[in-house]
Amino acid sequence: MGCRPGQAWNASPHQFSFGAPVKAMAATLTTAFSLFRFSRVLRAYAIPKPFSKLSIDVLRAPSYSLRPERCVCHITASVNEEASAKAAAASVDNGGPTIFDKIIAREIPSTIIYEDDKVLAFRDINPQAPVHVLLIPKFRDGLTQLGKAESRHAEILGHLLYAAKVVAEKEGIVDGFRVVINNGPEACQSVYHLHLHILGGRQMKWPPG
Ligand code: AMP
Repeated sequence: MGCRPGQAWNASPHQFSFGAPVKAMAATLTTAFSLFRFSRVLRAYAIPKPFSKLSIDVLRAPSYSLRPERCVCHITASVNEEASAKAAAASVDNGGPTIFDKIIAREIPSTIIYEDDKVLAFRDINPQAPVHVLLIPKFRDGLTQLGKAESRHAEILGHLLYAAKVVAEKEGIVDGFRVVINNGPEACQSVYHLHLHILGGRQMKWPPG
């Protein structure tokens, strides 16, 4: 008994009475393996790259339903903001144009809510609060980040703070809002054109993350 090379080991139904169940089991295993491979292919190619790690983690976590509050926690944990901020600092803090220059020039769309001759305020594309506005100087003048400020910038810096209060008033949050400036990679700055985050519309927590 046994299989010769090239012979299917359950080729003869007389030799193996359990041939049919084994075939059924083999078919089931083949189908399961195909589904497993297909799901891997799907994860590798069908999920957009920036979200692939996040999406895979969500798919892997057995106890995760897609309840929004759970996803938000997981998104926060999965997206590596520190690494992308360091990459941005290495490649962008060279004084070259940033995405905000395109917004100032109206080359890309944004929701502008306030502007004067010196500053521009528009809604953050990835809001962290019901109100999340970015306020920037229209003329950067070397202010890629607050840490690059010189005495000549005192006027625009003061004007930005006053404009932040005007924006808060316009947005109806003047009684409770937060102004944040992320400076450099350790603060997760990702755009190297000085900007104030104006956040409000919900209870803020302290200390910040
Ligand atoms: P920071 O990480 O402090 O440098 O903040 C940069 C902010 O710019 C982030 O909160 C982004 O969501 C925001 N942002 C990036 N691109 C755009 C855009 N095209 N329109 C509006 N906000 C943007």
